[in-house]
Amino acid sequence: MIIFGTRGVKSTLNQGQFNCPQCESTRAYKHKKVTRFFTLYFIPLIPLGRLGEFVECQACKGTFIPNVLNYNKNQQSDSFLAEYEKAMKHCMVLIMLADGEIDENEMVTVQKIINKFGHNDISLDQLSKYVEEVQQKPEDISTYLRKVTPALNEHGKEMIIKCAISVAAADGNIDDSEINLINEMAKVMEMSSSHLKGILSEMFAPKQEPSFSKN
Ligand SMILES: [Zn+2]
Repeated sequence: MIIFGTRGVKSTLNQGQFNCPQCESTRAYKHKKVTRFFTLYFIPLIPLGRLGEFVECQACKGTFIPNVLNYNKNQQSDSFLAEYEKAMKHCMVLIMLADGEIDENEMVTVQKIINKFGHNDISLDQLSKYVEEVQQKPEDISTYLRKVTPALNEHGKEMIIKCAISVAAADGNIDDSEINLINEMAKVMEMSSSHLKGILSEMFAPKQEPSFSKN
């Protein structure tokens, strides 16, 4: 008697780390596919086609649709956004504090910038509290900026510099301490000084008012 039939055979397409929805933390996964085989005496001989794919968590053994891996990528871009927000907030507040005084116009400008680029709007009160935190524990301007720099293109870097210049100019004049900090930011982001000069002249010519809402 010849025994034949079909059987689903699992094979691993890919593996790595993902954010398991069931464990709610980072786990090892295996991305598997199931292929239906024609079997003879229980031995899979001829592949008959793909039955499906799934992602299996190696910790809880939960299985998920392959899209769960894209969800993981979104998580990563979320954390980039959070870092970007942190860097933006920190740099702008340091620029605002550079000349030793806090002007109301500067506060409003910083608030506008944070709310334009972040996805958590902050009030002036919340900003004041944050300013106090930074005053008590002033960290180097490169602290957070350095972390986001590798993910920024030229446009992204220019954007941050333009925002910083807007904050510096908000009280009516840009002084040396502010220019020094902006220079430092450019250095951290590996922008050349001629590039920075270009941005400055672009922002201040022909009209005097800087604008960060452009582009
Ligand atoms: Zn799991």
